[in-house]
Amino acid sequence: MVVGNRASSGRKHKLESKVFMQKITYIGADDQTHKFFVEGADITTMNVLRRKIGYCLSVYAIDEIDFYDNDSVVVDEMLANRLALCPLVTPENTTGKKVTLSLEKTGPCTVYSGDLKSNDSEIVQVYNTIPLTKLKENQSLRFDAYAIQGQGRTHVKFSPAIVSYSVLPELEILRGCDGCEACVKACPANCMKLVSGKPKIDELTKCTNCQACVDACPKECLRLNDTNNFVLTIELIGQMSILNILKSLDRYSKEYFALLKKKFK
Ligand code: SF4
Ligand code: SF4
Repeated sequence: MVVGNRASSGRKHKLESKVFMQKITYIGADDQTHKFFVEGADITTMNVLRRKIGYCLSVYAIDEIDFYDNDSVVVDEMLANRLALCPLVTPENTTGKKVTLSLEKTGPCTVYSGDLKSNDSEIVQVYNTIPLTKLKENQSLRFDAYAIQGQGRTHVKFSPAIVSYSVLPELEILRGCDGCEACVKACPANCMKLVSGKPKIDELTKCTNCQACVDACPKECLRLNDTNNFVLTIELIGQMSILNILKSLDRYSKEYFALLKKKFK
């Protein structure tokens, strides 16, 4: 999801095409969602980051299944889809070999992702409580599932995170502001305040570029201009930690540029 790049009347676009990236600061995490403040970048760079993390890093996912018994109401194809989307822990250094996850259950019971037994102690289910199907008395489910490493560009099951970014705005006061505070009260992120009687965005990284402050001004004296600053949001699926994602991104970029250099020699 790309947020904040919508056109609005009168908005000035200050983005410069030749900027690469000057500084990244870690803002913090909320559960599995990590935020970074990126300064001096452009939309192309942000898109490269978004695509590289989402589509080019390599994680484990179930890719093939041999079903021996399936008496449950969930047919093989649907169960296979469900299993492929259950994230698997992908350690920092893996051999890349195929891993087998086996399941053998007889009802009555609910079958959960955690019931799969892996032949690799490190490559196991991230979440053990994802329900897969239900079995009635004497019904059974038996299969071997094979997990391989892959990239999100071939299938979303190999994607380690949902990545998005928002453009941070700069507030411009166009004409006589009387300090009525309507814009401050309208801000859903509570990131505005009056400084010397004039509105100011005081917590820039909290601003969602929603335009509510501009719309709330009765005198139409505010404008939000795009800048070269962004908030990058990385929401983990769970296969890798944020540290592993950043290390893998670094490794991938080095390998990619080395390959590119070779090709242009
Ligand atoms: S754009 Fe939205 S979030 Fe940002 S300061 Fe204005 S009202 Fe608040
Ligand atoms: S709503 Fe308009 S007039 Fe009132 S403080 Fe904000 S910018 Fe000034």
